[in-house]
Amino acid sequence: MIDKKQIYDILENAKEPTAKEVDQVIKKAAKRERLSYHEIAVLLNAENAEHLEKIYDVAGQIKQEIYGDRVVMFAPLYISNHCVNNCKYCGYRRDNVFPRKKLSFDAIKEQAKLLEKLGHKRLALECGEHPTETPIDYVVKAIETIYEHSSIRRINVNIAATTEENYKRLLDVGIGTYILFQETYDQDAYYDQHPKSLKGDYEYHLHAFDRAFKAGIDDVGAGVLFGLADWKFEVMALIMHNAYLEDTYGVGFHTISVPRLKKATGMSLKDYPHMVTDEEFKRLVTILRLSVPYVGMILSTREPIDMRSELIEHGISQVSAGSKTDVGGYHDETYEHEPDQFELADERSVLEVNKALMEKGHIPSYCTACYRNGRTGDRFMRLAKSGKIGLICEPNALMTLTEYIMDYGDESLKDNGLSFVKEHAENIKHTTVKDKLLHNIDRIIAGERDLFF
Ligand code: SAM
Ligand code: SF4
Repeated sequence: MIDKKQIYDILENAKEPTAKEVDQVIKKAAKRERLSYHEIAVLLNAENAEHLEKIYDVAGQIKQEIYGDRVVMFAPLYISNHCVNNCKYCGYRRDNVFPRKKLSFDAIKEQAKLLEKLGHKRLALECGEHPTETPIDYVVKAIETIYEHSSIRRINVNIAATTEENYKRLLDVGIGTYILFQETYDQDAYYDQHPKSLKGDYEYHLHAFDRAFKAGIDDVGAGVLFGLADWKFEVMALIMHNAYLEDTYGVGFHTISVPRLKKATGMSLKDYPHMVTDEEFKRLVTILRLSVPYVGMILSTREPIDMRSELIEHGISQVSAGSKTDVGGYHDETYEHEPDQFELADERSVLEVNKALMEKGHIPSYCTACYRNGRTGDRFMRLAKSGKIGLICEPNALMTLTEYIMDYGDESLKDNGLSFVKEHAENIKHTTVKDKLLHNIDRIIAGERDLFF
């Protein structure tokens, strides 16, 4: 599925594209037509400032057309930092000596309650890989505990590549997206970064989604840890991996995450010659948006505030907020934190992030309706491609935001937020949807919860 030489040949053949070539590809992308690998390579090789601006603009336009003003909110929850792997870039690698910790089920319940108090409804459950400390039974019970004892409605799971049988267990317990980052699609860099470990098997890792699909999971989230290898190569490889899944299983990635390598204990960024600059990062996010317009794109708090604000305008559809990446990290301010997996750059509270989003006209969304109505995999993609996402998702986003404002907002958010929600609702063109939505917003203000289309 990933042929290194083929990718470099495609990139080489599209080197120094003419202005006319770049313009043509951008125009095609603006119509949301599927781009060929050569055309994607043309975009990756475009260097001229005017062209880059056009790429950013079209990415913003596509994002607006497909996702509207919504930005989906979530938070990671780290339940264990025990790890048998030795990924050179990660603070949790086995060579780093520190007291390891895994949460008891009571502690998991408490963390879920604390996340609930921040207003979250959607989590990404994170865990190191350890067959005896955190076997699949532990992960499954952690998920059951959260669903049973909190109002968290969707748990996406980011655990190490595993067997088809274990993926069935995750499916049965009702996970949202199964997330796994390839880290790097460059086989040589992969072997170098994952020495002597379970994770060190490139092929096994690369085919994890095949096993997940065979187990019945139809909602998978990919990612590359940008900084481990050439970013242009990684973007092409991500798109090829997605195409392979679409061709083989009828559905590709539900989301793509774009983590950039950050400083962590036991590693130096100086050892990474492929670190991605801010400009390159903007290019890669926007080119992904043009290449796979219907795939959700996730940005974490690894990125600083300015970069997050900017990329939400140009393609990102989902962000984490108020995140902690240490095990059991959601606590009051007096809590002494455990070692982090890596450094964070946006440490604002969820409330601050939401206010900043709304100031720019975005709708922070806590909606989980698709997942709860079984609208996953190709059923979700059909909805996205039908252009009707706005008629269902935007009203749902506004209702969940109303809930958030009522339950977790401070006085200033209550004052401004409710008029923000109503203004957006008034702008919905479909009158039946608009009337029902306005009625539902009033019901939520009066105390009803969990209404959705
Ligand atoms: N342990 C599982 C795994 O490796 O697949 C679960 C995910 S791990 C807790 C989450 C992700 O953090 C990794 O996939 C990796 O991409 C990312 N990560 C690790 N070290 C990082 C660093 N120094 N900077 C940024 N992201 C990092
Ligand atoms: Fe373990 Fe995941 Fe960190 Fe690798 S990235 S050391 S597998 S926690």
